[in-house]
Amino acid sequence: MVGGVYFGQPAWKVPAWPGAYAAAIPDVPPEPPPADRAELVELLRRICPDRTSPWTAALLEQITARPDSPPRLLILNLLALQPESLLPAALTRNAAAEVAAGWRIIRAALGHPSTIIAVDRHDKTTWCHWRRYAAGGQVRVRAVAARYPQGHPRILLRSLVDGPPVGAGHWRSRRGEPKAQPPRFAAPDIIMLDPLLCWVLGTFLHTRRTGVRPVQVFSSGSGPRLILAQVGTSVSAFLESLGLSCAGQWCIRNGMLAGEMIDPQAARIQWDTDMLSLCPAVEPEAGTDCVRCGWCVEACPVGLNPVSLWAAAEKRVGLAVADPREAAACMDCGLCSYVCPARLPLAATIRTMRQREAAGVKDGG
Ligand code: SF4
Ligand code: SF4
Repeated sequence: MVGGVYFGQPAWKVPAWPGAYAAAIPDVPPEPPPADRAELVELLRRICPDRTSPWTAALLEQITARPDSPPRLLILNLLALQPESLLPAALTRNAAAEVAAGWRIIRAALGHPSTIIAVDRHDKTTWCHWRRYAAGGQVRVRAVAARYPQGHPRILLRSLVDGPPVGAGHWRSRRGEPKAQPPRFAAPDIIMLDPLLCWVLGTFLHTRRTGVRPVQVFSSGSGPRLILAQVGTSVSAFLESLGLSCAGQWCIRNGMLAGEMIDPQAARIQWDTDMLSLCPAVEPEAGTDCVRCGWCVEACPVGLNPVSLWAAAEKRVGLAVADPREAAACMDCGLCSYVCPARLPLAATIRTMRQREAAGVKDGG
């Protein structure tokens, strides 16, 4: 691990599950679980083909990417993906039965591979709850120190299994030249499970209800709320139904560090909308010149040199310039911008570089 920051556990109380949850469950006979991989794929296509987490690939995508071989390992990732996220803890406290049902169904359909349940070692309640499923080496609970972005699948894989490094050395040749196509961390026989997807599946099989997910909502001056939202609803309509006005506010989706600013009028709740934050719109603070403190380099969990990438994008003289292709290894955690005392928009610049590189756009093209 090159970087990472421990933010501590959020001081807020884990929100109780919305009161409407139980009342909304229709009285229908349960649907039989999928008997095998093919039936699981069919079910996922029907109820939730998209990713349910901003960082974890959709389960359907992960399964269909390896049609011939069963997975060797499942990792149920119960770490918070953002420092302020309470979702994994709230799922454990409020809906553990549905999450466990969904996980067991997926595991059975995939041939009972070994499972690691990854939990934050500081969250004793979640840890104690999931320890009851640990059985004889086939299912293990691993408590890890949740230094952000420990919950990112690439970092978690590196911590839990003996995978290849994901830093610059992995995608540079021995002579130090960048490779034409920087290889990504690939673990073809490992499936990363998002607990929310397990909840969606477990809930559907018992209630036939789908298209609904919990969203953590923040507004300045109040603690977080956990609200069930219909996927596809307009974000502004959803926030207004909670008595929150978007006028004069910034609306940020999926966390203050790695999230993105959205237009609540145009945006919709998606399967991977974990969090919505409203904060008063302010004039952006002007950045100063780089003071060469090196903090961004120290913080980057994948060993990039954020300031050199930024210098390449901005065509700055006097700073070391990195190859723009290195931006492909960035996982968009936002830590470089967070620690930068000069308030430089490092992560946003690198994100744009990565998107341009992925689209094959050349400078000036
Ligand atoms: S946003 Fe990208 S470059 Fe910045 S610290 Fe995270 S991984 Fe590194
Ligand atoms: S953290 Fe900011 S000021 Fe420090 S080296 Fe990086 S870009 Fe420069």
